[in-house]
Amino acid sequence: MGSVDIPSEQWAQVVEKTGGPVAYKRIPVQKPGPDEVLVNIKYSGVCHTDLHAMMGDWPLDTKLPLVGGHEGAGVVVARGELVKDIEIGDYAGIKWLNGSCLSCSYCQNGDEPLCHKALLSGYTVDGTFQEYAIAKAAHVARIPKECDLEAVAPILCAGITVYKGLKESNTRPGQTIAVVGAGGGLGSIALQYAKAMGLHTIAIDGGDEKRDLCLKLGASAFVDFTKTKDLVADVRAATGDGEGPHAALLVAAQEKPFQQATQYLRSKGVLVCIGLPAGAQLSAPVFDTVIRMITIKGSYVGNRADTAEALDFFRRGLITVPFKTIGLSQLQEVYTLMHEGKIAGRIVVDPTK
Ligand code: NAD
Ligand code: ZN
Repeated sequence: MGSVDIPSEQWAQVVEKTGGPVAYKRIPVQKPGPDEVLVNIKYSGVCHTDLHAMMGDWPLDTKLPLVGGHEGAGVVVARGELVKDIEIGDYAGIKWLNGSCLSCSYCQNGDEPLCHKALLSGYTVDGTFQEYAIAKAAHVARIPKECDLEAVAPILCAGITVYKGLKESNTRPGQTIAVVGAGGGLGSIALQYAKAMGLHTIAIDGGDEKRDLCLKLGASAFVDFTKTKDLVADVRAATGDGEGPHAALLVAAQEKPFQQATQYLRSKGVLVCIGLPAGAQLSAPVFDTVIRMITIKGSYVGNRADTAEALDFFRRGLITVPFKTIGLSQLQEVYTLMHEGKIAGRIVVDPTK
């Protein structure tokens, strides 16, 4: 494919100060460095992480001013002179891990998210809430041409993260996993990866819209945290033998469900922590954790192989992303709804609107 016309200016949503709001404005289009690509972002999912970043929720500074976004699906329009293995015109995805050193012990062992020099899209480098975004070519997701760029965008963070978290849960086909925050972006996609892996799922979230969505996406049971009188008992009762699920995938952005999860897991159960609520602590009774052999672990996005595998589940038609598309200009409204827990599934933004 020949050269592509790249404008010098573009629309973007910019966080100018921690706490927001985002400013919708025109900013310059950047040029990729020697090992980078420039991707014309066609669609970008909005992850709760983008809201955490704007609000300064975490003990890690963002760049400022900041263009957020890390679920960007688009087309490669320019590449640096060292980039040989991705072509102009190829579909590409910009994910949370924008780049890593590729030579430290973590990178060598496929734990690129743990690299101390990792670059984070929409956090330490500008992300995908703009029409043209940059990432290291080595880390850009290779999106198969048969994929729809609008539907695939949320796979680039939500999909990869829950796919990796399910692997970390050490569950086997036929077992049961609780998905906590199941009606949100990560949760609704987790239900489907879990189903594709042969797991039963207990969805935990609040409200009838999320209940309907979770059951439609294949959850075996739904427990409404806003209505139940005894969440622990209800989750246990939702497994055939009343012993509770073999694992819990915790993707809620609230602290309370982290404290409850070890109580409803069956003995030898695994709690996989993924959600990152501001200032939250984890605590569990030592006695119970020891004598019931409970495992508590964190799981953080995924590496390049997890990315390719998660995309392949999507390509095979095993994952339907429940999304609604709106213009990038409406991003602040998305954040308001997200803060109130009112988004079922994922919102995707179109940078041209
Ligand atoms: P989201 O807002 O779309 O979904 C969160 C869901 O949790 C909502 O549906 C909400 O109703 C539900 N919820 C709130 N309180 C609950 C409770 N007490 N019990 C059950 N459900 C409850 O958010 P998202 O985009 O899916 O992100 C979820 C979290 O995961 C965020 O904190 C985000 O930063 C984090 N995250 C972590 C990683 C990682 O690599 N570890 C990657 C991506 C996102
Ligand atoms: Zn994310």
